Amino acid sequence: MFSTAIAGSLPKPEWLAETNKLWPKWQAQGDALRQAKADATLLWIKAQEDAGLDVIGDGEQSRQHFVHGFLEQVEGIDFENKVTMGIRNNRYDAQVPQVIAPLRLKGRVHAFEAQLARAHTQKKLKFTLPGPMTIVDTVADRFYGEGEEGRIKMAFAFAELLNQEALALQADGVDIIQFDEPAFNVYLDQAADWGVKALERAAQGLTCTTAVHICYGYGIEANNNWKKTLGDEWRQYEKVFPALAKSSIEQVSLECYHSHVPPEMMALLEGKDVMVGVIDVASDVIETPEEVADTIGRALQFVPKHRLIACTNCGLAPMSRDVATKKLQALAAGAALARKRYA
Ligand code: ZN
Repeated sequence: MFSTAIAGSLPKPEWLAETNKLWPKWQAQGDALRQAKADATLLWIKAQEDAGLDVIGDGEQSRQHFVHGFLEQVEGIDFENKVTMGIRNNRYDAQVPQVIAPLRLKGRVHAFEAQLARAHTQKKLKFTLPGPMTIVDTVADRFYGEGEEGRIKMAFAFAELLNQEALALQADGVDIIQFDEPAFNVYLDQAADWGVKALERAAQGLTCTTAVHICYGYGIEANNNWKKTLGDEWRQYEKVFPALAKSSIEQVSLECYHSHVPPEMMALLEGKDVMVGVIDVASDVIETPEEVADTIGRALQFVPKHRLIACTNCGLAPMSRDVATKKLQALAAGAALARKRYA
């Protein structure tokens, strides 16, 4: 009951990459960089296990950014000539690569870190990939054509590539494959219309557990400002959750603590495991076990006990290592308290 997991990313140590940045520069190159990525991955596996988490991840230490880390291994993308593009419906500008030709994987994308993580933890291993719709929203297109039709075509092309890598990750021994789709909270009608179908294409044929993470973004200023415009009740999930409930995806990770998401939204996910965000990623204040257990208690009105997984609202990448480590401990301590309280 109430197993614990993180959404995905963790801060990179200062010897691996610039800190407190979403697109940090690496601090080394070549073999030295590869070694530093491996060291950071092992360090965070140990920290998650020491905190007492049940599901372990690689903390995304081997990718510069959760979307572009995947795109770096895709043929047909021009990384030399990045352009500035407003992403998440123009919420903030990003430097993005351009799709210029048919898309193909150059080879494996995440074999190194997935196999390393698998070799160093006995616990359940979760691995994250960007979802097709979020990829389409984080890359410029010079190939698939204008308008919605081009976006859909490109999303399904990426879904095929994601599926190839996901099947290979499953063969590496990954237990849970999670697709990150923050764009589902931005393009609400499109998410329910074709976003979920593209996601299912990415997960096609997987026999391991499948998951999707949908949030209100990292705790960066642009997102915090956006949240202030969303009013007292954030009902974005209302559109996409019914479509997800009918889908083949088994687990849904959502933002809860310190959000204005009405908890009854979780009732729309009947039949799914729900990863409830009980840790705020937009604040350095460490949650108390009581606060975490209270959030779990509120979610239990709408999620059956055996389907509730305690999780972070989003990735912890832009935070300090110290704060992130304490938040992992708070997550585990709060879930332990909730087990006593609600057993
Ligand atoms: Zn997120």
